[in-house]
Amino acid sequence: MPNKRDYYEVLGVSKTASQEEIKKAYRHLAVQNHPDKNPGDKAAEERFKEATEAYEVLGDEKKRKAYDQFGFAGVDGQTGGYSRAYADFGDLFSGGLGSFFDDLFGFGRFGGRASSSRRSSSVGQSIRIHTEVSLQNITQDYKQQLTYVHQVVCEACHGTGSKSGSNSKTACRTCGGSGQIHQSSGFFSVSRTCPDCGGEGYVISDPCPQCKGLGTVRKNQILNVMIPAGIEDGTDVVLPQMGNAVRNGSTPGDLYIRVSVRPDRYFIRQGSNLYVQIPVSITQAALGLTIKIQNLSGKTIDVDIPGGSQNGQLVRVKGEGLPRFKDTNYRGDLFIKLQIETPRRLNSKAKQIMKELSDALGENETPKPVEFTQV
Ligand SMILES: [Zn+2]
Ligand SMILES: [Zn+2]
Repeated sequence: MPNKRDYYEVLGVSKTASQEEIKKAYRHLAVQNHPDKNPGDKAAEERFKEATEAYEVLGDEKKRKAYDQFGFAGVDGQTGGYSRAYADFGDLFSGGLGSFFDDLFGFGRFGGRASSSRRSSSVGQSIRIHTEVSLQNITQDYKQQLTYVHQVVCEACHGTGSKSGSNSKTACRTCGGSGQIHQSSGFFSVSRTCPDCGGEGYVISDPCPQCKGLGTVRKNQILNVMIPAGIEDGTDVVLPQMGNAVRNGSTPGDLYIRVSVRPDRYFIRQGSNLYVQIPVSITQAALGLTIKIQNLSGKTIDVDIPGGSQNGQLVRVKGEGLPRFKDTNYRGDLFIKLQIETPRRLNSKAKQIMKELSDALGENETPKPVEFTQV
């Protein structure tokens, strides 16, 4: 391959350039020389092809190393060059470079050309909202009404953004059609998505008065959402295509509802098991008894506390926990943690009985230390 220019020279970067510098240099050249922006300009097309090939090598640390060591021979046959780059951007930019691609060319630039490889061109943004439920709410599937705002297709222009429906476009003046704005502040030069065209590089020539050319309008949406029983705190409920619509877009983004489960004052949750602390007296703990408590749903249940129960002991009530998330045939258990209370004041009769009890139990030895236990 005679007369081939050195890849570093093509991109105008030094041999020691960082990946960031290489990417930036390529971005600049690709935007400038892209065939979509320079129809019929063979020289620009050549430059685009040359830069893309150079980037395929220098943008890949392994290929770059081979190129540094052996020159073109080191990467011979490993570059698809222009044809591959132009025909299949999705492939070239796959593997973490998707956002770079979006930065570079903006949304929707290839709508008609490489539709198969441009997944993001017609997909709207996803939205995240938050909601909170109580522990009681999630003992079964829970219907909750939520209000949020999203962009929906403008009915006046059917999402085209164009008043007449002609859908004619002109290059965006703000960014000159690149979809990016370069701003310098001190030593730094920052590129960001053009706010006037949303990175598309063009604006609608005869904007629809309803949506001002956006193709979408804001809508207050009221939703009845089913929060599944037993949902874990911080889980997302996803409603497909309830996010933002886009101009000329086929698929709106998704709605992510982040569900927080409010901690309960009495019931502590561990997965699908619940824990509740119940005080009992020393005589109740010693003799055992049946107590009535309300479970999380408010239903009264009988629980047998066995005689001889110790402070901190857990009494298990099977199936009175929460339904397991996504497996609601299974319910966790309720654990009652006994908090054994010593009477603080004794009347003379009680005092007498306690003394007799102490004697009956033979409690006249000096207590000795035992292994420390956490209760
Ligand atoms: Zn409209
Ligand atoms: Zn613009």
